[in-house]
Amino acid sequence: MGHATYSYSAISSYENCPLQFKFSYIDRIPPLRRSVEAFMGSRVHEALEKLYRDKLYEKTNSLEEILEFYNDRWRRKMDERIFVAKDYDIENYRKMGERYLTDYYNEYKPFDEGRTIALEKNVYFPLNEKYWIKGVIDRLTERDDIYEVHDYKTSLYLPSKKEMEDDCQLALYALAVDHLYGVKKIELVWHFLAFNKEIRIRKDDYEGIREEVIRRIEEIEEAKKRNDFPPRESPLCNYCGHQPICPLFKHSHSLQEMEPEEIKEEDGFKLVNRYWALTQEIQKLEGEREMVKKQILEYAKRNGVQYIYGSDKIANVKFYRNVNFREKEMVEKIILQEGLFEKYSRLDFIKLSNDFKNGMLPAAVAKKLKEVAEEVEVARIYLRNARREED
Ligand code: SF4
Repeated sequence: MGHATYSYSAISSYENCPLQFKFSYIDRIPPLRRSVEAFMGSRVHEALEKLYRDKLYEKTNSLEEILEFYNDRWRRKMDERIFVAKDYDIENYRKMGERYLTDYYNEYKPFDEGRTIALEKNVYFPLNEKYWIKGVIDRLTERDDIYEVHDYKTSLYLPSKKEMEDDCQLALYALAVDHLYGVKKIELVWHFLAFNKEIRIRKDDYEGIREEVIRRIEEIEEAKKRNDFPPRESPLCNYCGHQPICPLFKHSHSLQEMEPEEIKEEDGFKLVNRYWALTQEIQKLEGEREMVKKQILEYAKRNGVQYIYGSDKIANVKFYRNVNFREKEMVEKIILQEGLFEKYSRLDFIKLSNDFKNGMLPAAVAKKLKEVAEEVEVARIYLRNARREED
């Protein structure tokens, strides 16, 4: 039997947004745009790779040489698909990358902390008989018989050591190193370049991660069977390379391509504006109707009348006395004790329908209900503000 191969980025992509996972790893649609953060991260990675690769050939680059290499790659690889999600210029990000490299260079010069075993190392190993993992280790070194898996991070978030203890990515790479080299003493080293800080973690074994990752992969395999990959909106959408084709943002992207006059005439744009205008009118009218209702009730009481005559309609005003029960649980208990539950309880069709849809009913019950169940499409429209708060 064949096996399925997953990368750590595929697994975390599914967890961030199932639809993005589908675009990237099932439909294999290349990203239509790339965030400047990801672009800068790649350029910084390349520069650090060069630094250590040249070192293997006994060449120690000066900081100027590394920065020149970084800037040269930056210029050559820049294209119009790179976008900036925040209120800064591309130039700000180029300078950030320069600073990360400068700080790193000054901190680790002359780069002889351990022997480099591999750079940008592709790894591929079995988690079990069904699933394999592939990935790329930024730098693998060996020092005093201990293998170190190094990873460079360029994000502006510095996690705690505790968070990194639960991180799966490098723990998986530790399993890969064990598989490839048969070593047990492995340390994980994250370089948080924006803060010029490293976090190191060393465990006696990393096996604990295996079952956890298998569980996460099985969730994806289940989604594949159901072809269930809904979009999941989050702050990460700002950086999503597939945003222009995502159903949540596609329309906004097509409007951005239009002239202001064209936008005003666009069907979707016009319909939502009309829908919102009508919703506001209805809300206003409902408020007014409530007020008039109150006034009619007062009129009826004041004048001692039940029928109030208009030109087309007569308002028949009735006052009732109703009973409300305060302690719902107590009422339920009494009704149960008195054997009256069936008489006064009602079937919860909403819960039944949800449980039926989600396969939560016993198979025999679901089979019987299937005879009388029909699937209907339900549509709802929720209006929300066009401008989202900045994340
Ligand atoms: S834009 Fe957001 S919701 Fe749409 S695919 Fe990308 S991450 Fe998912």
